[in-house]
Amino acid sequence: MTLTTPAYGVRSPTSPLEPLTIERREPGDRDLLIDIAFCGICHSDIHQTRDEWGGAIFPMVPGHEIVGHVAAKGSAVTKWEVGDTVGVGVIVDSCRECGPCKAGEEVYCEKVASYTYNSHEQDHRTPTYGGYSTRITVDQDYLLRIPKGIPLNRAGPLMCAGITTYSPLRHFGVKEGQDVAVLGLGGLGHLGVKFAKAMGAHVTVLSHSPGKKEDAKRFGAEFLTMNSADAFKDNAKKFDFILDTVSAKHDYDAYLRLLKMDGTMALVGIPEPGSIRPQSLVDERRRLVGSQAGGIRETQEMLDFSARHRIAADVEMTPIQKANEAFERTMRSEVRYRFVIDMESLRTNGS
Ligand code: NAP
Ligand code: ZN
Ligand code: ZN
Repeated sequence: MTLTTPAYGVRSPTSPLEPLTIERREPGDRDLLIDIAFCGICHSDIHQTRDEWGGAIFPMVPGHEIVGHVAAKGSAVTKWEVGDTVGVGVIVDSCRECGPCKAGEEVYCEKVASYTYNSHEQDHRTPTYGGYSTRITVDQDYLLRIPKGIPLNRAGPLMCAGITTYSPLRHFGVKEGQDVAVLGLGGLGHLGVKFAKAMGAHVTVLSHSPGKKEDAKRFGAEFLTMNSADAFKDNAKKFDFILDTVSAKHDYDAYLRLLKMDGTMALVGIPEPGSIRPQSLVDERRRLVGSQAGGIRETQEMLDFSARHRIAADVEMTPIQKANEAFERTMRSEVRYRFVIDMESLRTNGS
């Protein structure tokens, strides 16, 4: 038995988002059925629906910034109750046996995690469908608890943009007093600024959008527009750490030269590939690293940290019927700073 569920998705890399019907599994013993309240629009939804990373699975229902409430639970579920406020991020399962899974780093599962969409369940056959839909069935071990105090419509983006910026700041040891730059003030970037500030860093936004200066200040950061050669020359060897969230192709060497000796640049943005000159790293013994979202344990840690520090996403709400426009505005770097779909729009008007 399956649960017929209204959704929005794409049928091919060149088709727009449109109403689709998908089948969800009935909750098994260890599953929860979640009524989705809100789902953020991540730039990865755009890359993947347009097959910019290759290997996409169609039809595709995107969405991995999901928050909602437990509507039903399986008989063996011990951790959750009907009515709990929960989140689902970028993965819904993993092998649970490999080193990374055992270490709580499930997103790095060696046998391939089940991503929330554009992926397969652990049977490696059944496609997964994401949060642009009214409900989702998830194993109890891959759910997150949304702490009281975070407004629910502003919590969804924490499930991907939040953990993807929190995790590298923590893992690469960003400390109080360090000079941290966040490259790109979008969905990821604005949360990266808030986390780095809360960790005590001195934060600067590096942007190609001058109009975002006031917002950067409101988030507690300095602001530099990187649209001239002088901007790069004047800020050479300034930063201990750069968090690169940019979604479009850009010059990695130019930004690496903004790092001090022994500085680290962490890539989280995934644009089309670009090249790097070895000297950009060699000259100042710099590091270039990358980072995915984060494991379940660290995602919960990030949510609790957010509640303590009153961190949530700045959002623009949209009905699902306007999701294609939201994609276009995100592409133009216009959104302030995350579109969030109110799933009530799909419940009351399925097309
Ligand atoms: P977003 O909201 O669209 O923000 C991206 C920002 O990049 C823009 O706001 C803009 O900031 C800057 N930018 C865009 N085009 C640019 C250009 N041509 N030149 C210079 N800067 C440009 O996207 P997002 O949702 O934050 O995602 C950012 C990237 O991270 C995407 O590639 C996404 O797929 C990736 N991502 C990776 C992971 C992971 O696991 N590592 C997880 C989530 C997302 P300014 O206007 O300030 O310049
Ligand atoms: Zn994402
Ligand atoms: Zn694994």
